[in-house]
Amino acid sequence: MASQIEQLHFLVVPLMSQSHLIPMTDFAKLLAQRGLAVTIITTPLNAARFQPIVDRAVAANLKLRLVPLKFPCSQAGLPPGSENMDTLTSPNQATQFFQASSMLQDHLEKLVSGLEPRPSCFVTSNAVPWMAQVGRKFNIPTYVFNAISCFSLVCSNRIDSMDEELFDSEKPILLPNLPHRIELTKSQLPRSIRKDSDKLDGLLDQMKAALLSAEGVLVNSFEEMELGYVEEYRKVKKKTWCIGPVSLCNKELLDKFGRGNKNSVDEHRCLSWLDNRSNNSVIYTCFGSLCHIPTDQLIEIGLGLESSNRPFIWIIRETDYSPEIQKWLEEERFEERNKEKGLIIHGWAPQILILSHPAVGGFLTHCGWNSTLEGISAGVPMITWPMFAEQFYNEKVVTQVLRIGVRISVEVGMKRGGVEEKGEVMVKREEIKRAVDRLMDEGEGGVQRRERARELEEMAKRAVEEGGSSHWNMTLLIQDVIEQMKNRRGPIQEDMDRPHPVRSLHPFSAQVASHG
Ligand code: UDP
Repeated sequence: MASQIEQLHFLVVPLMSQSHLIPMTDFAKLLAQRGLAVTIITTPLNAARFQPIVDRAVAANLKLRLVPLKFPCSQAGLPPGSENMDTLTSPNQATQFFQASSMLQDHLEKLVSGLEPRPSCFVTSNAVPWMAQVGRKFNIPTYVFNAISCFSLVCSNRIDSMDEELFDSEKPILLPNLPHRIELTKSQLPRSIRKDSDKLDGLLDQMKAALLSAEGVLVNSFEEMELGYVEEYRKVKKKTWCIGPVSLCNKELLDKFGRGNKNSVDEHRCLSWLDNRSNNSVIYTCFGSLCHIPTDQLIEIGLGLESSNRPFIWIIRETDYSPEIQKWLEEERFEERNKEKGLIIHGWAPQILILSHPAVGGFLTHCGWNSTLEGISAGVPMITWPMFAEQFYNEKVVTQVLRIGVRISVEVGMKRGGVEEKGEVMVKREEIKRAVDRLMDEGEGGVQRRERARELEEMAKRAVEEGGSSHWNMTLLIQDVIEQMKNRRGPIQEDMDRPHPVRSLHPFSAQVASHG
C-alpha cells in the first residue's frame, strides 16, 4: 500500500470560515504525514493566514500546499477582503458570502482540469455543496468533512423526521430513539433545520443533498466519545469515519501557537503568565471566531470573571473591541486592577496552546464544535454558553453525555451580528460567577468532573495514535480512495496506471500562483 499512497493526491476544499479552515488544515497535515500529497484550495487572505503552517509542514518534508483562488467579493456585492466568515460585518452578508463561494466553481474546475497529477479525491466542507457537481463532472470521489459531531448529525436527523409543530419555544421536546435522553426547545434548534428559516436561498437543502450523495463522511470526533452515535449515523451513511480530534496533530509549541490567524499575544508573555499560575486554577474564556458579544454583555462577562476571584484569561474578539468597550476598560482601569489575576487578549488567541497548559482548569465556551473538542482533547472541564447553530447540541454532549461541564443556563441563542438592543444582557455577572464557582469547586462533584475530563483527554490521544480508532479510520479512508481509483473508469484510472508518483507537483511547492 505504501507505493499506492505515494501516488495519491487529495484536494481539500474548506469553507472559508475558521471552524472549517482550521480543522481541515490539521486534517490535511495528518494526511500528508501518511506520505501522500495534499493541496488545500482557499483564497489569498486565508492563504496568507495559513501559509506559516504550510511552510512548517514543507520544512518537515510533507507534500502540502495552498492554492489561492481569487474570491469574487465585489461580484457578490461584498466589501473587498470579505474572504472569511469572520470578516463579515453583518449576518445578512452570509447569503452573498455563499454566493461568492459558489462562484469559485468555474475557477476550480479549470484548475482541476490542468492539475497534474489529477486529484485522487476531493475532501470538502459540508458547507461547500457545489463540490458534489465538480466530483461528478470529473468522476472523482468526493468525501464530506463535517465540522460537527456524529451526535449532532443524528440529532438533526431525528428532528428532520419530526413534525415541527411538536416543537415549542419554551417547552423542551424529547428526541426519539437516542442512546441518551436529549430534550430541546424550538429556540435551541439550529437555523439550518428549522422549517421556518429562510434556508439561505435553498443552500441548506443543497448541503443536505451533497452530504447524502458523498462517497463517504468524515467527522472530526472519535468513536470512544460518540457512545453509540457513530453506529446510529452509519445507518444513514455507511461510510462514516471519525478521524479526530485533528487538533492533536499539533505537538510542537509553534504548531499549537500559530493556528488560524496571527496571534494578538506574544507566545512568551502568554506562557510565562500561565507558568506563574497553579495547576487547574485558570478560567479561559473565549467565544470562537464568529460570535458577536454586545458591549453591555462583555462588561458583565468581565465583571463576572473578576468577581469569581480566580485567575482568568479573557478573549475579546477584534470586532467586539469597540470604542465603547475600550472606554469602559480604560475608565474602570479594569486591566490594571486585575493585572495580578487577569490576562485580557484583544483579538486572536493561541487557543490550543492555552488549553493544553496545566494551569488551565476551566473553559467558558460558546460550544462551537472545534472549541468543544479542543477542550475535551485537553482534559479541561467546561462552562457551556451556547449561542447559535448546533451549539445547543454540543452543550448536551458536554453536560449530559460526557458530564464534564456545567451550564450557564441560557435557554435561547444569541441574535447574531450585533442586533441586540443597547443594555440587553443575556447572562448577568452573578450567573457567570456562580457557574465559575460550580465548575472550579473542589468538592466531590468537581473532582469527578475533572477526572472524567482527564480520562477523555487520554482516550482522545489514544484515538489518534497508531493503532487508535481515528488513526485506523484514516487508513480506511485512504484504502477507500485507492479502491475508488481502481473502480472508476476514465482519466482517474489512467492516472493510477502511470508509473511516476508525483509528477509536476514534485517538489510539492508551497507557493502556487493565484488562480481565478
Ligand atoms: N480560535 C483560536 N483563537 C481565538 C478564537 C478561536 O484559535 O482567539 C480557534 C479555536 O481554537 C477553534 C476555532 O477558532 O479551532 C473556532 O471554531 P469553533 O467551531 O469553536 O467556533 P466558531 O468560530 O465557528 O464559532
